[in-house]
Amino acid sequence: MMISVKEIMAARALSKSGLPELDYSLNPYLGCLHACRYCFAVDFTSDREARESWGKHVAVRSNIASVLGREVVRMPRGLVGISTITDAYQPVEGKYRLTRQSIKLLLENGFRITVQTKSPLVRRDLDILSGYRGNSDVGITLTCLSRDKSDLLEPGAPSPDSRVRALEELSYEKINSWIFYGPIVRGFNDDPETVNGIVEISRALNSRIIFDRYASYHSAEAMMVASGFDRNSLSHDSRWWSDVSTRILEEARKRGVMANSQSEEWKNTTSLYQQKLF
Ligand code: SF4
Repeated sequence: MMISVKEIMAARALSKSGLPELDYSLNPYLGCLHACRYCFAVDFTSDREARESWGKHVAVRSNIASVLGREVVRMPRGLVGISTITDAYQPVEGKYRLTRQSIKLLLENGFRITVQTKSPLVRRDLDILSGYRGNSDVGITLTCLSRDKSDLLEPGAPSPDSRVRALEELSYEKINSWIFYGPIVRGFNDDPETVNGIVEISRALNSRIIFDRYASYHSAEAMMVASGFDRNSLSHDSRWWSDVSTRILEEARKRGVMANSQSEEWKNTTSLYQQKLF
């Protein structure tokens, strides 16, 4: 596959986040080579080339670390979401190391970070993360456990096995880690084998699960359908979602695993940080 990478200048590094659980978001890259068919970021990406050839083009905000270096001195401390729009550990990070420089700057200056990624490259930065266990956490996304299914849904992403190995290493290093199971698509990755497998991994690693269903966004829906997903399986169905949620929560309860839906997550996160404050 032909990919292209270009360097651009960032005017700001930290953005105020619209997500209730975050104070800021930080995204060193626009566009994402993981090329997920369901990616909602397509509709929110300002770079035209990245938007028009999703998964094949990345804009690198090459000066982000120097901009961030000035911002961390003057901006109020808070919780920063790393990878809210694109995966900060996608392949180009191996060369540019902008995420590594950014999390180091943030943690050294008293900010807290929460990372979400599909890439085992995050293990490279364990030396930084292990120095700030109380101020950082890492979520690994698992959509499924089979390489075949992963190739359909997220053709540029590292294999599910490699992500599970990354989770193992995070757990071994006692980094606060969690699994994001989603997006769950009706008839695709809502089967008992996937549900039970992900809950069992979480139990074995003493991790927790946040899960969510597929949500329809304009460009993502077109990519999903073009990849062979049936439009009916993508439509909103509250009864199906209630059944799937109940099954996940029931399996988690049986194994003593903490699990909650994405919609409940911000309450959970807020209470976690409130516990630290009081
Ligand atoms: S890893 Fe995340 S940002 Fe990258 S394509 Fe997939 S869903 Fe989009």
